[in-house]
Amino acid sequence: MLLALTDHLHCTGDHAASWLVARADAAVRGWMVEGELGCPMCDVTRGIRGGVLSWDPAVAAQPVAPLLMTGPDDDSVIRLAALLALVEGSAPYVLCGDMGRYAVALGAVADAPLVLLDPPDDSAAGLATIIRGAPRMPFADRSVRGIALDAVHASAERVAYAVRVLAPGGRMVAGSDLALPSGIRELARDDRHWVGERVVDHSSMSAPVAIGRAPAAPRRGRNG
Ligand SMILES: [Zn+2]
Repeated sequence: MLLALTDHLHCTGDHAASWLVARADAAVRGWMVEGELGCPMCDVTRGIRGGVLSWDPAVAAQPVAPLLMTGPDDDSVIRLAALLALVEGSAPYVLCGDMGRYAVALGAVADAPLVLLDPPDDSAAGLATIIRGAPRMPFADRSVRGIALDAVHASAERVAYAVRVLAPGGRMVAGSDLALPSGIRELARDDRHWVGERVVDHSSMSAPVAIGRAPAAPRRGRNG
């Protein structure tokens, strides 16, 4: 796990937003290999073993592929990098599930922190931060620059949290069969994917976005 990523992670417990405190037992060039993250509000600790962060070991999806992930072809990599508007920087890009297959190739395109949620295997550990078993999206609000969703990580709740953690202007890429969520403006689509960007929503800059509820209806007039 990239130590600098700690600044972008939030506890997913049912309490006010909280940063996490890292304790590294073994680290190599800025990457935590063994250690834990603790939440000062709910005291839950999450272990890092072999560079992989297990958010909830009880529900952590284990690698399904025993062999190295098969890399996608170059055109697909360049296409995804373009859709995500991948650029160098400190804000992370999140690749969910099967999209984690792109991690190594995307890492060669731009020096940006990549986070893989439940990837098919752990072969990208040390190049990307791997998190297993996290419910929702374990990031601070408006701290993520891009998210590529796969079908497994596209439940209504998860998508709502994905919108919430995206920075204004941040990109979301999802399968074309997924409805465009509230808070995302569509930029382009084809028969496989759509890409949208997080709209700047001034009303949500100081208040949490409601999760699990329908988008707020337009304000009605005083007499309405
Ligand atoms: Zn907590």
